[in-house]
Amino acid sequence: MKIIVPETISEAGLKVLRERFDVDTKAMDRAEIEEAIRGADALLVRSATKVDGKLIELGGRLKVIGRAGVGVDNIDVPAAAKRGIVVVNAPTAATESVAELTIGMMLALARGLPRADGSMKRGEWLKKDLMGTQLHDKTLGLIGIGRIGARVAEIAKALGMTIVAYDPFVDAGTMVRYNATKMTSPQEVVERADFVSMHLLLNDETRNLMDASLLSKMKPGAFLVNVSRGGVIDEKALYDALKAKRLAGAALDVYESEPPKASPLLTLENVILTPHIGASTREAQDAAGLIVAEDVKRVLLGERPLYPVKI
Ligand code: NAD
Repeated sequence: MKIIVPETISEAGLKVLRERFDVDTKAMDRAEIEEAIRGADALLVRSATKVDGKLIELGGRLKVIGRAGVGVDNIDVPAAAKRGIVVVNAPTAATESVAELTIGMMLALARGLPRADGSMKRGEWLKKDLMGTQLHDKTLGLIGIGRIGARVAEIAKALGMTIVAYDPFVDAGTMVRYNATKMTSPQEVVERADFVSMHLLLNDETRNLMDASLLSKMKPGAFLVNVSRGGVIDEKALYDALKAKRLAGAALDVYESEPPKASPLLTLENVILTPHIGASTREAQDAAGLIVAEDVKRVLLGERPLYPVKI
């Protein structure tokens, strides 16, 4: 059986596939992919290849599409489902990396690390201005406590933080196992937390969940971190809260629109911005390739995949 891999996937993943299948790893442009997909049983991509309805239609033999990463924004899943093609991804690959970035963002906010670094390089010595805060003994409020939120809670506990969380799909007992106390609303979380971190999927329910009203309920001087999906925060409302210095600062890895070219957030000093690098570690990328390759192999061998994407 033939698998085409037009983007770079980890060697560990390719090895799993090469043992059983004919794997073509040649880098291809769109026209070449359209040609190659006609004879392919499986297609493995990261995020550059747009697997739209047309490509899926051309893949007459296609049985499975693998996305070596979290989420399937670049794949037309309903079109694949209509043709009986299974779509798999690697939702667990980046958990540790994203949790570590979250904690890094909190530390960077608490101690003003970007400002300290920038000022040193300009020849300044802002020792007196750079009065920070400890994470120890502070309250971390999590909105969403799934895989990543739970891992953040574990690390935060080791830093001496108290953790409160809102997640309508996680019961109080499970939260206790994650070191967190269950709150009944996002409002209850933000009213208590010195640091708020969002770890949600983006859907109709969670879009703009952090809006002007919820931001206004955050403790004055609190910090906000979002490494989940851009749309869960109303960026205009966040800008207003930061500009007015109601919040001490925010750190974002994800944006309503990426890259956030004209966002006024880019003009603020009390915000730390990174270009969607949550999963950008060697370990997360290796894991993504391996996890998705194993699932592609399962489907091609007629077995049940671990991480099929549901519509
Ligand atoms: P997950 O599915 O394990 O956890 C999401 C949690 O959100 C679940 O527990 C769910 O019950 C909860 N939830 C759903 N609706 C909610 C609501 N209205 N209020 C509160 N909680 C709600 O997902 P995960 O693996 O922990 O990933 C979390 C987010 O991080 C996802 O959006 C994912 O796309 C994102 N992510 C970002 C990067 C990055 O590069 N920055 C990398 C990987 C994942």
